[in-house]
Amino acid sequence: MELPFAESFKIKMVAPIKKSTREQRKQWLKKANYNLFNLKSDEVFIDLLTDSGTGAMSEQQWAALMLGDESYAGASSYYNLKNAIKNILGFEYFLPTHQGRAAENVLFSVLVEQGDIVPGNSHFDTTKGHIEFRKAKAIDCTIDEAFITDKEYPFKGNVDLKKLEKVFAENDSEKIKFIIVTVTNNTSGGQPVSMQNLREVSEFAKKKGVMLILDSARFAENAYFIKMREKTYENKSIKEIVAEMYSYADAMTMSSKKDAIVNMGGFIAMRSKDLFDKASVFNIMFEGYLTYGGMSGRDMNALAQGLDEGTEFETLETRIKQVEYLGNQLIEWGIPIQRPVGGHAVFIDADKILSNIPKEEFRAQTLAIELYLEAGIRGVEIGAILADRDPITRENRFNGLEFVRLAIPRRTYTNNHMNVVAVAIKNVFDRKHEITRGVEIIKEAPIMRHFTVELKKL
Ligand SMILES: *Cc1c(COP(=O)(O)O)cnc(C)c1O
Repeated sequence: MELPFAESFKIKMVAPIKKSTREQRKQWLKKANYNLFNLKSDEVFIDLLTDSGTGAMSEQQWAALMLGDESYAGASSYYNLKNAIKNILGFEYFLPTHQGRAAENVLFSVLVEQGDIVPGNSHFDTTKGHIEFRKAKAIDCTIDEAFITDKEYPFKGNVDLKKLEKVFAENDSEKIKFIIVTVTNNTSGGQPVSMQNLREVSEFAKKKGVMLILDSARFAENAYFIKMREKTYENKSIKEIVAEMYSYADAMTMSSKKDAIVNMGGFIAMRSKDLFDKASVFNIMFEGYLTYGGMSGRDMNALAQGLDEGTEFETLETRIKQVEYLGNQLIEWGIPIQRPVGGHAVFIDADKILSNIPKEEFRAQTLAIELYLEAGIRGVEIGAILADRDPITRENRFNGLEFVRLAIPRRTYTNNHMNVVAVAIKNVFDRKHEITRGVEIIKEAPIMRHFTVELKKL
């Protein structure tokens, strides 16, 4: 018999989690204004809100933490991180930042001005936020396949070069300074971008004289999918694939809380000394001095180690197989999800499940609420609330996908937890006809409203 798959780690430290009753959850939800971000973590049994900063560090990372050098300038931890970035990603220059959105803020302080256009593949919410905050415009050039959730396609994160060409044809070229490609494409369902697509976008960018920047939170998962799905890469190591991916980029932004498996941190890295010098000004003002930029020495040490083990095949295989395990169970039960299953999360298609309630009543948020009520599982809405209002017309953007995202933290839960999650979703799915009304917004922030929005159940 073929041996079944098992995780490439054993557990050394555990944290207790608690179950609750449906009645308790009902009260807590009401108190939270039906926004799952407002729940206390104690009120959650299995927390799939995000895989950001919620992973379990390895013993080597904890050991590296103890060796952190907290010198203000020139700490050895800074040089450890600098070497890891140079060796794994190939960039000469880098600036640490406190997390990924700070990396965007620092880089965009140099590269984005009012009226600019930033084409890319389904810009992540904070990326779009930082672009729109500077009164510039993000234009989505993701391939159409990404929006047909039940269509199997290996690289749904890809950029459509025709759409890209159109953006350049229709806009003043002075207004476009770079193309940003997110690997993996989080918003479209943790879907990868192929090496071929990266190569083509890079050639296109060179031809147009603009930079190619990779938004890199899940770059290692992207490399895993290239290895598994793209011909000619099956025998290459993850580190070789990563090196090639970045050979096409001029710069990167990174949220280290994802594939680098630390709880906090980020950076930008680039080839150009000029870009580094310009970005340094903002970094020093808002993040910290050049050799720590918002991070403790110990955190930079753990991050350097995390970049190394996060780009090992076994780490990625263990992680992505767990996400697949949950996804495949749902597929087997006929529950509509984005296919194929993404790298870091399962994306449930709420439009298909709650089609009997109006879009204007936020189907994905409604489904996320029901799942929490069912079993204390916290997912997150990736739908119209997150899509926010159009910056000019201030209309809600109801034209996108309506997902409940179940993000799986790295090395944190077992497959028994995944079994509970699957059954809870099935139970909600089976009683979908009883769910006839959604929610209404009663209070919202002018930008990135999903974090703090207050809702009323209809
Ligand atoms: C998480 C993430 C960010 C923002 O990073 P934070 O560390 O949360 O600030 C940016 N881009 C992508 C693709 C991400 O997944």
